Amino acid sequence: MNIAAAYKTRAPLLSLLGLLLLLLHANAQALPQTEPVPGGLVVLAIGNSEEKPEARFNKRKTMVIHENGQWHAVVGLPLRTKAGRHHIIVTSSNRSSKKYSFTVQAKQYPEQHITLKNKRMVNPNQYDMERINKDRTHIRGALRHWQEKNNVQLDFIKPVQGIYSSAFGLKRFFNKQARKPHSGLDIAASQGTGIMAPAAGTVIESGNYFFNGNTIFIDHGQGLISMYCHLHSIQVENGQAVAQGDIIGTVGKTGRVTGAHLHWSVSLNNAMVDPSLFMRAEDRPAAQNKK
Ligand SMILES: [Zn+2]
Repeated sequence: MNIAAAYKTRAPLLSLLGLLLLLLHANAQALPQTEPVPGGLVVLAIGNSEEKPEARFNKRKTMVIHENGQWHAVVGLPLRTKAGRHHIIVTSSNRSSKKYSFTVQAKQYPEQHITLKNKRMVNPNQYDMERINKDRTHIRGALRHWQEKNNVQLDFIKPVQGIYSSAFGLKRFFNKQARKPHSGLDIAASQGTGIMAPAAGTVIESGNYFFNGNTIFIDHGQGLISMYCHLHSIQVENGQAVAQGDIIGTVGKTGRVTGAHLHWSVSLNNAMVDPSLFMRAEDRPAAQNKK
């Protein structure tokens, strides 16, 4: 029996139930889950005004999504966020402002110790530093990008078939020297494995950087940017629109690496957050990989 025939024969109440279930399912995927920790995110209901309000966290514009007849601010929390009360400022179209508070819980991320044979990747020389500073300008510019877009795709797929090898947020030590925490998720796969865009977006920047190697940045809209590092090949161009599942490049071992893997970062309002917060539960790293 085809769907049309099924609808004709079933009671209208059943069709209504089916429609409700469909709507509930669609809504369940639309907004990411609140994870109020450093490197997590919070989703705050901010009213049902007719016009879209603007939300800011630490003066930086945040994502605002309409869902279930309500506006929601989706706020990325930087890894350096202190535990305790924080707030966003929401400004409505009539310019009135309101404060919405939320509590961030402390999270202890484990340590990771890595030994690199290439000492320049731990203590770069003066020439390298010039390049690193130049890279930083490009990377910062890409992560601060803002594209106004109402339909932001928030249900990400895993960008590459592979094994989760390093969790998000690890406190890192290279050759016993403390460095910045791991601000992404590593997926190990052999060189040449295709990398897919986890959600629709626009390629805003790509290039070769000292630490990150061959890198692509995708802007998904409203301050949600994803970054793919250590690529063997880049198969997209700046300005190119990509759909979920499109191949953007291949896994490699360029930049500061110990082997072939994809380093995947997700930035929300310029805060690096755990990429798995945007993935379906079954695609996320297992709890034992989060150590
Ligand atoms: Zn990584």
